[in-house]
Amino acid sequence: MRVVDLIDKKKKGGTHTKEEINFLIDSMMNGSAPDYQISAWLMAVYFNSMTPEETAYLTEALINSGEVIDLGELSKKVVDKHSTGGVGDKVTLTLIPLLAACGIPVAKLSGKGLGHTGGTIDKLESIPNFHTGIDIEQIKSQVDKIGVAIASQTQKLTPADGKLYALRDVTATVDSMPLIASSVVSKKIASGADNIVLDVKYGSGAFMKTPEDAVKLSHLMVDIGKHLDKKITAVVTSMEEPLGRAVGNSVEVIEAIEFLKDKTQGELTDLTYDFASVALMQVGKFDNENDAKNYLKEIVKSGKALEKFRELIKAQGGDDRILDDYKYLPQAKFKVEVPAQKDGHIQKIDAYNIAYACKLLGAGREKKTDDIDYSVGIYLNKKSGEECKKGETLYTIYSNDEEKTKLAQKYADEAFTYSETPFTPQKMIYDIIR
Ligand code: URA
Repeated sequence: MRVVDLIDKKKKGGTHTKEEINFLIDSMMNGSAPDYQISAWLMAVYFNSMTPEETAYLTEALINSGEVIDLGELSKKVVDKHSTGGVGDKVTLTLIPLLAACGIPVAKLSGKGLGHTGGTIDKLESIPNFHTGIDIEQIKSQVDKIGVAIASQTQKLTPADGKLYALRDVTATVDSMPLIASSVVSKKIASGADNIVLDVKYGSGAFMKTPEDAVKLSHLMVDIGKHLDKKITAVVTSMEEPLGRAVGNSVEVIEAIEFLKDKTQGELTDLTYDFASVALMQVGKFDNENDAKNYLKEIVKSGKALEKFRELIKAQGGDDRILDDYKYLPQAKFKVEVPAQKDGHIQKIDAYNIAYACKLLGAGREKKTDDIDYSVGIYLNKKSGEECKKGETLYTIYSNDEEKTKLAQKYADEAFTYSETPFTPQKMIYDIIR
């Protein structure tokens, strides 16, 4: 078998066998296929796609390229959640302590932000001394002890995905359905959970631009799960607008803590309860959504979810004083409240524009190795569906540099679309595929 023949086959729209996929991934990992051949194959896949069977074979090959966490008996109960990437998406920070406080063990591997999307690991690392580089043994013992652990993806799990993802990032082949599906599902399965809840995003801030494509991607991922004997539920959600009000790192941590203190309302709150109820039903703790949500709200009200977050922070070396006083989180030098220029109703806040503005402030990185500024970001004082009067604060910029503030403001201003009449925003959840 030769890699060049497999590139040619895919270029002509052919279908790979399991052996061919394994050969390609092995050749990439042992270095016999150089990056330019794998890149050419990725572009052929981008244009000619893959069948569900090929996608499942690729998923297996990615899983088998590294270690798989064996959670033993725990795996049947453990829930894992993954988002395909968004802006202001801090649902992992609200959901994981909540589920753990309900007695559902959670072992979660998360990534750093890349491109315009934020990453859970960056948000957690904005908590002073929070250590995300814990190894597989530590994850297991922490989940045993306190029921929850969040760690950064290690090179030991799905290393082939790491390599492919890096090539996709620089060859404009990230937004390919079979490549996203195999990348996401392989990481989740290698992490050891039998129950997986996926947040599949569509819209200006997501890789999938339309809900129809996000539904197609969801079916593909749920089907791979069936093929590999895992329970996957995919929730298709909108990423036209940032999720919640805060976009950045420490500002998002604050919003998540406010949820755990039962002080928020709106889409972050609703979506967290939606995901948590899907997870509770998936593990058989409840058989209807209403009962699950009532129970979850009680857990938050009782303070148990906040205390679980405290346990998690302490277990991973972080400073838990941030829960009681936000001054212990990284602070930006400037806080600029930007007023609305006219009366109106907010119709849309473009997620991509806000993400871009935050990246200019220093909240995101261009390359995986870049440093980021945890303290900067944007807080949306107004969200779509809300009325604003000229002069009222529309959004707040947290920044450490006056020039960057001006530039960020230009992009953030362009994100807002107004309506003269009252406007009802679209629902966050488009579909649930089980
Ligand atoms: N998230 C992933 O983990 N992989 C992708 O390919 C896209 C989003």
